[in-house]
Amino acid sequence: MKMFCYQCQETVGNKGCTVRGVCGKTPEVAHLQDLLIWTLKGISFWGVKGRELGVTHPAADLAVAQGLFATITNVNFDTARFVEMIAEAIHLRDALKEAAQTACHAQSGSGCAADLPEAATWTPENYDVQTLDAKGALVGVMADPELDEDLRSLRELLIYGLKGLAAYTDHAYVLDVYSNELLAFLQEALLATMDDSLGVNEMVGWVLKAGEMGVQGMALLDKANTDAYGHPEPTQVNIGVKEGPAILISGHDLRDMDELLQQTVGTGVNVYTHGEMLPANAYPVFKKYAHFVGNYGGSWWHQTTEFEKFGGAILMTTNCIVPPKKSYQDRLFTTGLVGYPGCEHIPDRKPGAQKDFSALIATAKASASPQELESGEIPIGFAHATVMSVADKVIDAVKSGAIKQFVVMAGCDGRQRSRQYYTDIAEGLPQDHVILTAGCAKYRYNKLDLGDIGGIPRILDAGQCNDSYSLVYIAQQLAQAFELDDINDLPISYDIAWYEQKAVIVLLALLYLGVKQIRLGPTLPAFLSPNVVQVLVDNFDIKPIGSVADDLAAIAAGK
Ligand code: SF4
Ligand code: SF4
Repeated sequence: MKMFCYQCQETVGNKGCTVRGVCGKTPEVAHLQDLLIWTLKGISFWGVKGRELGVTHPAADLAVAQGLFATITNVNFDTARFVEMIAEAIHLRDALKEAAQTACHAQSGSGCAADLPEAATWTPENYDVQTLDAKGALVGVMADPELDEDLRSLRELLIYGLKGLAAYTDHAYVLDVYSNELLAFLQEALLATMDDSLGVNEMVGWVLKAGEMGVQGMALLDKANTDAYGHPEPTQVNIGVKEGPAILISGHDLRDMDELLQQTVGTGVNVYTHGEMLPANAYPVFKKYAHFVGNYGGSWWHQTTEFEKFGGAILMTTNCIVPPKKSYQDRLFTTGLVGYPGCEHIPDRKPGAQKDFSALIATAKASASPQELESGEIPIGFAHATVMSVADKVIDAVKSGAIKQFVVMAGCDGRQRSRQYYTDIAEGLPQDHVILTAGCAKYRYNKLDLGDIGGIPRILDAGQCNDSYSLVYIAQQLAQAFELDDINDLPISYDIAWYEQKAVIVLLALLYLGVKQIRLGPTLPAFLSPNVVQVLVDNFDIKPIGSVADDLAAIAAGK
């Protein structure tokens, strides 16, 4: 076994990637990611202890969030960047350790702990890739072959939920919004994954606590995004092209979107979104730019063909980046936590200044116009503020029976053919069913003409995966309007598609809120052991997707 990773839905055989990732991750990068996570556990040991003693270290807190985020599927494939992150993490851990030890001595006259975990103290002989790779191979998911499979499953489920939570925490942080409670929780929970005294029940408790913090994290990010850029508005987004040089921007970072639009004013360069950035088209602050043309192409995994045809410069602000073809690699730029060897990386902004996108803009100016893939418009912008602004209309439609059922079809898209299921479900739903969506899953059906019900579109697209918060908020508001104590009594079915770890925190958030009978597909996560699946079935009635016909029948029956 050259590596082991089973954190995403496309893992080999739904068991684990052991030779090379389906995503393109090499064993070397896999080991460095494992070592980074282990080093973050070391920071967390001192971070938790430090907080007990009144010692905090904001740079270490941020490093934990960003390190977790960097190891999410399709964020960063760059060995050199991981070596830098590991070195910085060890440096911060030692600074925190020294501060905590000093506080311990001041309070009790002795050091903090007799038994220190290796992650809290290990320092490499050097920062050569080979040295770090060798250590990383010893500290990953399968480091302890004797570990109980249910504990391993719950520890990894928790870590993957934390990765998603860290991503949302970092997106908010970029907009200068953060929560000490969330930053502290990331460390407390990472420490829990090293605690051999915690059994299955305690770990289930940590997993649900992560769901609770996931709700907080998504609410925080929703506030950060809407305070900065306004509430998304119902918008018809152009999916065709315009003559002229262009930049394609993907990922979730709205501040990058903002600064790129500002810096391209008057340059003659048009800006388009791709994949995860589609929802940016609905924000009032961005819509005002005449050179912001619309969205190009489909979900993340189509990028190898679509980026080739786009012709212009491309900016990846967060996941998902997939190994680029040579035909467009020199036009592909990364920024933030994204990295791919051979692609130019745009550095972080300096305090008080914007990121410098001049190299990206210069590349765009020297490039061809995009080739048209399709034409027309798609509707977006149905986040909570919009839906609640027409709440009376929605409630009346439910009361009159014009809307019989809502179907939450949120989550991710992916390469597997079995995801055709989601297109077939969307097409097969009765005319009185409305789809609520957020995340890339929508690309399986958002270009279908499903019509509307009394002016309410049958696909209500709330935005990015983090905007799943909007869906929960809408459900809670509807429950209140109908005077229901339990949101499971609403006419809402859940058919969630997952791929990577942001979707894991969305799922845990739904479970924390008590949502039951979620269908999860296209496969159940490989990291859930049979007993952990049983816990989810017993407590939440979670189930794998079935056949299209069976699931349509169940949805029509309100399940
Ligand atoms: S992220 Fe997914 S595809 Fe990549 S190595 Fe891990 S399990 Fe495999
Ligand atoms: S919807 Fe899924 S695949 Fe797309 S960015 Fe969000 S978590 Fe990743």
